[in-house]
Amino acid sequence: MLLYSCTILAPKKDLHEPLNCEFRVGRGFNPKKKHYGVDLITKEGCPVLSVEQGLVHFAGTLRGYGKTVIVKHSDFFSLYAHLSQIIVKKGQKVQRGEKLGSVGRTGNASTPHLHLELFKNGQIRYRLDPNIFWRFTK
Ligand SMILES: [Zn+2]
Repeated sequence: MLLYSCTILAPKKDLHEPLNCEFRVGRGFNPKKKHYGVDLITKEGCPVLSVEQGLVHFAGTLRGYGKTVIVKHSDFFSLYAHLSQIIVKKGQKVQRGEKLGSVGRTGNASTPHLHLELFKNGQIRYRLDPNIFWRFTK
């Protein structure tokens, strides 16, 4: 069941929802404070889904980010942080909407949430503006 749809500005793209539980938006994209993604607050254990098909580029622990999965897509990467559990392995092919792990609070996270980032070549950070580009479609 599709609860949310997400579109990012550059490149304009419709992505699969990263969570299939209800969530609310916490901290937004704020490069000045080195917050390069958006925080989606939901319950611990909520399945985290790949926003597009791709290859698992990284699955492990990153300082601050805790248990993290990075998926390489055709022209961008997506990053999912603070997971409680990771169920994919580096090099694994994942489908659009496939489960990568579960929401948790590993790394610098005081409450369970998904920190989601999209970037290109480790350089360009795509702005995810939850106020404009996330909307209820239910
Ligand atoms: Zn965050």
